[in-house]
Amino acid sequence: MIYHQLALNVPLYPLLTYAHPTTLPAGTRVAVRFRNRLVAAIVWESDIQPEIDLSKIRPIENILSDGWQLPADWRALLSFTARYYHYPLGQAVMAALPKGLRQPQAVPLPKQEHIYSLNALGRIQPAPPARYHKQNALWQRLLAAPATLHQLKTIHTQASQYLKQWQQQNWIEASHIPACGPIPTSRHQLNQQQQLASAEVQTRCGQFAPFLLYGITGSGKTEVYFDIMANIMQQGKQVLFLLPEINLTPQLMQRVRQRFPHTVTTVLHSQTAAGQRTTNYLQAALGQAALVIGTRLAIFTPMPNLGLIVVDEEHDYSFKQESELRYQARDLAVWRARQAACPVVLGSATPSLESWYKTRHGDYQLLQLSERAHTNAQLPQIHLLDIRRLPLDNGISDIIKQKLQTNVARGGLSMVYLNRRGFAPALFCDACGHTFGCPNCSAKLVLHQHAGQLRCHHCDFHQPIPPSCPECGNQDLTAVGQGTQRIEEYLQHLLPSARILRVDRDSTAHRQDWSEIYHTIMRKEVDVLVGTQMLAKGHDFPHLNLVVVLNADNSLYSADFRAPERLFAELMQVSGRAGRADCTGEVWVQTRQPEHKVYQALAAQNYVTFATAELAERQELGMPPFSYIAAIRADARTMNEAQQLLRQVQQGIEQQHALPANVNVFGPVPMLMARLAGYERAQVFLESKNRRDLHHSISLWQNWLLHLEKSNTHTRWLIDVDPLEM
Ligand code: ADP
Ligand code: ZN
Repeated sequence: MIYHQLALNVPLYPLLTYAHPTTLPAGTRVAVRFRNRLVAAIVWESDIQPEIDLSKIRPIENILSDGWQLPADWRALLSFTARYYHYPLGQAVMAALPKGLRQPQAVPLPKQEHIYSLNALGRIQPAPPARYHKQNALWQRLLAAPATLHQLKTIHTQASQYLKQWQQQNWIEASHIPACGPIPTSRHQLNQQQQLASAEVQTRCGQFAPFLLYGITGSGKTEVYFDIMANIMQQGKQVLFLLPEINLTPQLMQRVRQRFPHTVTTVLHSQTAAGQRTTNYLQAALGQAALVIGTRLAIFTPMPNLGLIVVDEEHDYSFKQESELRYQARDLAVWRARQAACPVVLGSATPSLESWYKTRHGDYQLLQLSERAHTNAQLPQIHLLDIRRLPLDNGISDIIKQKLQTNVARGGLSMVYLNRRGFAPALFCDACGHTFGCPNCSAKLVLHQHAGQLRCHHCDFHQPIPPSCPECGNQDLTAVGQGTQRIEEYLQHLLPSARILRVDRDSTAHRQDWSEIYHTIMRKEVDVLVGTQMLAKGHDFPHLNLVVVLNADNSLYSADFRAPERLFAELMQVSGRAGRADCTGEVWVQTRQPEHKVYQALAAQNYVTFATAELAERQELGMPPFSYIAAIRADARTMNEAQQLLRQVQQGIEQQHALPANVNVFGPVPMLMARLAGYERAQVFLESKNRRDLHHSISLWQNWLLHLEKSNTHTRWLIDVDPLEM
């Protein structure tokens, strides 16, 4: 018997051993029994010397992959991912596969599509008579250019029948479709900055080279990606293009189709139907598709000829998976590019501070686009409206009311942007704008109304709710965190003749919903859009000319150290929506803290100013990117139980003096969203300037948690490396 180590979808850290009479190559998909169920598994290592009783080792039942194995570089990626995120390898491997390959069944490999064309003999034949118009259309299509069966079927549902007929006449030539067909030239002539950016990346083709493409909204980043992609694909290589959300960016897919009409493109995201996703995955893995476009999960697509990775809107939080295997696809993209020795381009108008910091140190090369690509597209005018002394009606000042009324009367499109991110409630002074910070940390205090306390979620400092503002004596302290619902209702009342449309997660749960909304807006059937964070993402509404931001200040009271960064990115994105194409846009931001660096940088539309100031602050506080952090979380029915488990581990580790000296531990403290789905959530932060020591400490915690797990059955735990959620 030959013994094999297999990756299975089980929450165990070591791999499991199974036997087979012959050696199976690593990467082979097999079916085995686990707890009496037949499950799929991937051979990770063959010919091993088991350390367990040989009589207990069970046989491999079936071999599933037919002449195809998950390649070595893919396995290396998954080994790294599981190690880095401290997650069971078997579960990581299964999470990286589409559903079809997670089942204990064989899957037929996708056949390479054929492309049909009329040969010389066919071309001189008379076309089918015009009265058979579909048949004629089919012929004309073939005359115009080679086509796939899929394309032909959109012209005539019985295309295959006619193809067969004409093939028998020897008029038709069929050949395998090339992964990358001819690429037409762009309709845009790249401007100088775009050309420079594209050329820089192309000269590094075939080497690991990470780039940050920092270009303001509308500066033509997409055209730069396309130019590089065209070049790389024409060399016979594959391109992986990651973006935050596909359904919300139908324009991008349309642009891809226009620019790369003959390139075999495969799309991978969580809403692709399971069967289709498996096919798409395999097409990429077999090198049949030259272009793979997808959301974060596409980072795990095997690609034998990977030549370029693009991560568009690299700052977006959706590249981080917030459940199960908590990976950051943008970071893995850089790892993968190194592995594949190819360039990786991270693009954004508001890069993450992590990426920006890396350009400062020469780890990433900075490419800049500083002007809008459309010559007549102007930057919007951004106005900060200090509302400290202004009366507000349902959260809206008179000036903003008038702006909205005038724009509706003029027939313009307005957008009212509401900040509704799940943040912890905070207390602030309405009169002077004072906020309550922790005396021990940089964090803002979180309001616990029931307990009558302000608490720090970083160090567990707490104090009773103060009766008045320590700065100005005002006794009317306000809790922030509510009120957006009211604003929506009030707008309808304020603008009775306006057609108002609300756009948020709920109203766009499905793909059709979003494209419907999009078309409604484009047909100019909407006067006022009321939206949340979702509206900030890359949508182009050329006629949008007024953007109003009502309650952005909420974010500044957040205890999350990334809140300013996030707010700045969102406001820049939202502002960037105004005044595209040829109408100038105006942006009005209501705020009680107009002097805050987020708003100052926004008004100046200057990312660099913001990033510089924010990085200086992070450095002072020793926060990422100047340190690395990991969160160890515990959930239980009560906060006490959750914190208790973490304390127990902490004490255990302290007693052994095992923690490296340069690793700091904060907590246990409640999470910002302390209660979720009936569970109370507590966490500990491990923080260090040294990544290796941090990972060593995470392993210590992990071992203790695994050890205590058996006696703490009511408590669940998880590890989040480089967490975004606080
Ligand atoms: P970004 O991705 O940076 O927001 P896009 O690539 O979407 O910018 O470009 C913004 C607009 O400018 C698009 O309508 C695009 O077609 C157009 N555009 C891009 N590059 C050029 C160019 N070199 N010349 C003219 N128009 C361009
Ligand atoms: Zn504190």
